[in-house]
Amino acid sequence: MPSGGSKKVSESELTTVRLMMPTDANVLGNVFGGAIMRYMDEVAAIVAWRHAGKNCVTASIDRMNFYAPVYVGNILVLKAAVNYVGNTSMEIGVRIEAMNPTSKKSTHTGSCYLTYVALDGKGKPSPIPKLRPVTPGEKLRFKQALARRKLREAEDAVLAQR
Ligand code: GDP
Repeated sequence: MPSGGSKKVSESELTTVRLMMPTDANVLGNVFGGAIMRYMDEVAAIVAWRHAGKNCVTASIDRMNFYAPVYVGNILVLKAAVNYVGNTSMEIGVRIEAMNPTSKKSTHTGSCYLTYVALDGKGKPSPIPKLRPVTPGEKLRFKQALARRKLREAEDAVLAQR
């Protein structure tokens, strides 16, 4: 592993596409939010696994807003990358766009940040390679992800007092 056990964002990031089918629909005929969340967790988990090089589990999913409906027949584009890495956990961001394959119009329908923990063979949290942000965009996302991590910890501390 290069640079003392660190990895670049580009080594694990990926973009995946999925055709939205009738089986993805809610009772109104639009795509069910839960279906989108499942695809999002799937792509984010693959990115986490690629960065960690070992099994990872979903530890938390931040609030997700759905900005616009996704329709059956749209192509869902899921762009996922690692934004921040701690000792055994990491934040993966996913940007979701719905593309109309006829007009080629793409709509940003949601973004979310998910936290994964890497596990060793005994199911215990296990250290992972550090993240080496290279581009200005990656460095900005790293800083923003660290700020989100602190907010999550503060929220956990408040909830633990109840
Ligand atoms: P941002 O976090 O402020 O950049 O908000 P966005 O909604 O643009 O993106 C959400 C997350 O999706 C980012 O934090 C990245 O982790 C990931 N992401 C965004 N754009 C791309 C892209 O072009 N490729 C990949 N692989 N991931 C992306």
